Amino acid sequence: MSGSGSVVEPPPPGSSPLDVDEIRAEFPALDQQVHGRDLVYLDNAATAHKPNRVIDAVREHDRATNANVHRGVHALSQRATDAFEEARDTTRAFLGAEDPEEIIWTRGTTEAINLVADAWARRELGPDDEIVLTELEHHSNIVPWQRVREETGARLRVVPIDDDGAVEMDALEDAVGPDTALVTLAHVSNALGTVNDVHAATEIAHDADALALVDGAQAVPHMDVDVQDIGCDFYAFSGHKVYGPTGIGALYGRRELLEEMQPYQAGGEMIRQVTFEETTYACLPAKFEAGTPNITGAVGLGHALDFVTDHGRDSIRAHEDRVLSAATERLAAIDEVEILGTAEDKASVLSFVIEDVHPHDVGTVLDREGVAIRAGHHCTQPVMDKFGVAATCRASFAMYNTVEETEALADAVREAIEIFH
Ligand code: PMP
Repeated sequence: MSGSGSVVEPPPPGSSPLDVDEIRAEFPALDQQVHGRDLVYLDNAATAHKPNRVIDAVREHDRATNANVHRGVHALSQRATDAFEEARDTTRAFLGAEDPEEIIWTRGTTEAINLVADAWARRELGPDDEIVLTELEHHSNIVPWQRVREETGARLRVVPIDDDGAVEMDALEDAVGPDTALVTLAHVSNALGTVNDVHAATEIAHDADALALVDGAQAVPHMDVDVQDIGCDFYAFSGHKVYGPTGIGALYGRRELLEEMQPYQAGGEMIRQVTFEETTYACLPAKFEAGTPNITGAVGLGHALDFVTDHGRDSIRAHEDRVLSAATERLAAIDEVEILGTAEDKASVLSFVIEDVHPHDVGTVLDREGVAIRAGHHCTQPVMDKFGVAATCRASFAMYNTVEETEALADAVREAIEIFH
């Protein structure tokens, strides 16, 4: 084990692209003690905390508006509809989409991917079709396609990752061919932090006349995303990982595709005309939004995205890169620590294991020190298999984390090693 001396100097005051003290003051949940220690929250890939702006917007909406959308002629319903649709337009702008009707509200990334699997793949694909995905996908970008395979006979092709945890782009190119109907991959891996070249993956898909779906759950909070620049057909993300509420997220879909697709769920809101003989469907985006949506969630998400935009996604990325490098450097200096995921382009996730110590035990010791990390397979069991482990410890960073907190992480890791070795 290396000495406990600091290996990374915090940046001199004023040199950070973000005023992190000011940002932290916006997040009330950060200001607490856990087991008598100042909370160091490094579980942002699972869910991020919410700034006052989001908490207040949600409370205010519930307190003073709280009406159903699209159906009322009264003032509160109109106000709710305006706020709900404004949030959709904020999401459109945040993703660089052209048209708010290309933004479909969902419960999150999982439901967005299931929507595409159900409303497009299950109906369009057959035994001659292939879906290409990668070894680093979250289970929510694997299991829906396995169900499509069961129901349609379509085949899955899995593109391997290399020992650094980077997708082998040559293998991706080889895997895509005339039978490929869809290429689907994460923009950023939640288990390893790898940033995938989704531009290139989309181009490879389109060259083969296949569609491209990007799981943006771990990208949207950390970097600029422009779906038109990427060129993808679908892009999915979750509100709660980008400082918004749980239970809300969105699917971006290219307009022509969404128009051709069948509805996802059926019920109120998604119809144009209903008789017992026949039902016709509403236009976009209502066609995919059956039932009363998560109105408060959408309003809160709109404020969360504005919060991120106001601070600047390039500045957030630059700050988080600095925190990630500091954490990486500190943990790499500890002999018993092995870092998994060493791709050149990474964002905000640091996965590691400690020789002979179960990640859950590490997580428990860190928790006693006030440091919240995640220990487990991170819903990426194929990644665990690739690295020959059952689980990892994962520290994941947000715009409010500091270089100093990476020192607390390293100190707590050393404490765990001392206890278990
Ligand atoms: N994809 C990735 C890469 C994720 O990190 C997650 C959440 N861990 C999901 C999909 C699923 O997101 P949600 O649970 O919010 O639907």
